[in-house]
Amino acid sequence: MQANTSLNLDKLGKSETVQELKKQLERVSKLKSPVLLTGESGAGRWPRLRPFCIMTQELNDAALLRYSRHILLPEIDIEGQQRLLSARVLVVGAGGLGAPALLYLASAGIGQLTLVDDDTVELTNLQRQIIHDMHTLGQPKVVSAAIRLAAINPEVTLRLLGERLQGERLAAEVAAHDLVLDCSDNFATRHAINRACVAAKVPLVSGAAVRFSGQLAVYDVRDAASPCYHCLFPDEGEASDGPCATFGVLAPLVGVIGSLQAVEALKLLAGCRPALGQLTLYDALEGRFRQLNVPRDPECPVCGQPFDDVAALVDQDRGRRELDLAEGFGDAAAAVQG
Ligand SMILES: [Zn+2]
Repeated sequence: MQANTSLNLDKLGKSETVQELKKQLERVSKLKSPVLLTGESGAGRWPRLRPFCIMTQELNDAALLRYSRHILLPEIDIEGQQRLLSARVLVVGAGGLGAPALLYLASAGIGQLTLVDDDTVELTNLQRQIIHDMHTLGQPKVVSAAIRLAAINPEVTLRLLGERLQGERLAAEVAAHDLVLDCSDNFATRHAINRACVAAKVPLVSGAAVRFSGQLAVYDVRDAASPCYHCLFPDEGEASDGPCATFGVLAPLVGVIGSLQAVEALKLLAGCRPALGQLTLYDALEGRFRQLNVPRDPECPVCGQPFDDVAALVDQDRGRRELDLAEGFGDAAAAVQG
């Protein structure tokens, strides 16, 4: 517990980005959480961080009280809460989707949260990115978010990566976590995260929102029936960064989708069955949710495997037809969060 009562900044990288982050964090925050920043080397240099509670330990009185409304749920109970407290979650993007997702993951007691974002807080973000505020304008989003998360739950271990994760760095970080939330804002990142998750067999909770349309899906290729992101969205065309700046987005829409990402993440980590093979579409203008079955594509170049289950192939055809019919959700299918 003692380690959680003071800043732990002694194992920092040496890049300018990291040093600048460290200065800003020290200047603007009075965090009580152990906050670790890195900007250059792989996850291997970091010890596998473990929060104050592991599966074999009992929750102390404060934790029992804090998480009592979870523990009351038979689907979670003490064991599920202990799983959450031991979990390591990578969240890519601390913007519109990442904001509610991070807030709920921290308040729910996820043991270690790794925040990834290379952006800084701007005034246009504050319309919807509710983890940031006027006091952190101009600050790195990971720092701004960490300040808020630590204020809510100082027991959570936070790792801040103020960078755009790519290549081997991305692969190493994904492999070092139990679950990844894709809260990014461009297709290139989405496909890169998906490839890393498939390779490391780490489950991925993906969300997107633009205008009035949002979507959500859980991919877990440890389950033979689960598709990957590429199965649904094979087009890896160039990213169109900042679509919200181009098309606009209703503020609470990102709150809805980011919160749904947190719901699926907590379910999966606590041991409840997640919604696999299902794409959830939300049309905020119509006030309508729809679920489409989306089985694995046996010819997917990312996750494809021999697929001789006829029933599954039938389901796959049906899923594609449903996707084709989802014209009204064209925005959502192309959506990227901003
Ligand atoms: Zn696939």
